[in-house]
Amino acid sequence: MCGIVGYIGKRQAAPILLEGLHRLEYRGYDSAGIAIGGKGKLRVAKRKGRVRELDTLQPQKFKGTFGIAHTRWATHGEPSDRNAHPHCDGSGRYAVVHNGIVENAAALRAQLTDRGCIFTSDTDTEVFAHLIALMDDGSPLESVVGAALGRIVGAYGLAVVDAERPDTLVVARNGSPLVLGIGDGEMFFASDPAALVRHTTSVVHLDDGEIAAVRADGYETRTLDGATTVKTPSTIPWKDEAFEKGEYTHYMRKEIAEQPDAVRRTLGGRLDTRFQTTHLGGLQLGARDLLDVRRVKILGCGAAYLAGAVGAHLIETLARIPAHAEPASEFRYRNAVVERDTLYIAVSQSGETFDTLAAVQEIKRKGGRILGIVNVVGSTIARECGQGIYLHAGPEVAVVSTKTFTCSAVAMALLAIHLGRLRDLSVASGARLVRALQVLPDHIAAILAREPEIAQLAEAFAGAEHAFYVGRAAGHAIAAEGALKLKEVSYLHAEAYPASELKHGPLALISLQTPSVVVLPRDDLFAKNISTVEEIKARGGPVIAITHPGEAPTTFDRSFEIPALEPELDPLLLNIPLQLLAYHVALQRGTNIDQPRNLAKSVTVE
Ligand code: GLU
Repeated sequence: MCGIVGYIGKRQAAPILLEGLHRLEYRGYDSAGIAIGGKGKLRVAKRKGRVRELDTLQPQKFKGTFGIAHTRWATHGEPSDRNAHPHCDGSGRYAVVHNGIVENAAALRAQLTDRGCIFTSDTDTEVFAHLIALMDDGSPLESVVGAALGRIVGAYGLAVVDAERPDTLVVARNGSPLVLGIGDGEMFFASDPAALVRHTTSVVHLDDGEIAAVRADGYETRTLDGATTVKTPSTIPWKDEAFEKGEYTHYMRKEIAEQPDAVRRTLGGRLDTRFQTTHLGGLQLGARDLLDVRRVKILGCGAAYLAGAVGAHLIETLARIPAHAEPASEFRYRNAVVERDTLYIAVSQSGETFDTLAAVQEIKRKGGRILGIVNVVGSTIARECGQGIYLHAGPEVAVVSTKTFTCSAVAMALLAIHLGRLRDLSVASGARLVRALQVLPDHIAAILAREPEIAQLAEAFAGAEHAFYVGRAAGHAIAAEGALKLKEVSYLHAEAYPASELKHGPLALISLQTPSVVVLPRDDLFAKNISTVEEIKARGGPVIAITHPGEAPTTFDRSFEIPALEPELDPLLLNIPLQLLAYHVALQRGTNIDQPRNLAKSVTVE
């Protein structure tokens, strides 16, 4: 989703900003633009479409050592050249880029128009530029911007450049992320650390309600009320190369392949073979606090929510604590009851997912205990929760989650074992599960090595426009994630159903053209699941089984068998072939796998 990059220093700003925009492309956007300051003037270029279309306007030739740039994800006004950011005031002296939504834009627009401002776009963002121009009384730029922000209702990550103040850029944050990057005699900022890592790994995260004056030799931060704030820089743990596609044709494929290493990092230092439990250093809740937990509620959006659903099964099974996952977007709006003996868990790859963040804030406001399962270190949800489990999965660039789904589920398994071993999970069971986690990365690697078999399974979808994904208990959460992956990357309609629910309605839709993917672990529900398979087959529906080796009382049309590990952890492995299946169906259908239509990574708006 939308992106901001900025630079001030000794070097030419344009190449740095354009490269930064390329780094943000993975998030999904509809237009791009740049403003460069030099010799008392701003030069602005903006364009609907990809950054390479912006490149055709040759902004790389703009001379100047400070500037701002943007990738837009339209909320107000269609994607077009004129609505692309940056937006300027009438004189062209000030330029603004903005992520978020100005809620009182219509009223401000009317007032500003009455005062003679002429609007040249349909965006809400343009009001910032006119407001700043009208309110500039010669005070430092950060004071002018602060005063203008006092008139704004809504969410923003904002960056402002003034042609006549070449020594200062101003950024502000309220609900949309902004990170400052500290260089040597130069400063950077971005809405996503991905745009900074090539230049610096020393960063400062702005908090909501903060403004920063950014100069070549440093920065100052203050609240909207003008009180100075003190920030401590942190280090981004990612190397620039981690963002490269390397030998792979798609980031999705690369990230699927990275899973053995990513899972090793999630597990790193967290398996305790002495007490046959797990060690979670990021939790501030001690054994006594965790013993008080009577219920667990897991919140996330999209694949993060489904990883939470896998986690809920693991926690309920291993720790015998009632656990339930719910989409964060639903939770935050339904005036949910927040209980003191419930442990709340927020799951988010980026740590910036707006709906999840809002749920976290609501839980904190009501006095609930919350921890985060997050990939991006220092992200807003991680900081807001103040405790949790970092995935250490490395950057995920493809819009669809693969490795972070798996690593989130692994983090859930670590927590479930931890909670279980504080209660009734025996030493022997703890040992069995810890051993299984130790070999999990190798098992994932072994499945990935059989990719050609899965590519063949994808042929079952030739001519299909609809598919069912079916599973039971944890298998249903895995089926739901498999269906989500297929929908996202192949644009096929896929519906996930609990196995026993099919007969209560959806069986009416089974036909030769509607394949069903059945998640079929060889657990104590195997016989029940086979009944579902028979029901589908009896109605002529093709069945693709993702299962374990062994005699089956029915023949599947196609199947993929993986060795069983431990029943509680097998869902994590059954998910891997489904990722590859979605990828290969998408490959055959020729879709835009890394940036599926209509989707964006890290959904930072409501
Ligand atoms: N609301 C602004 C617009 O529609 C900003 C969108 C964004 O976050 O990219 O232009």
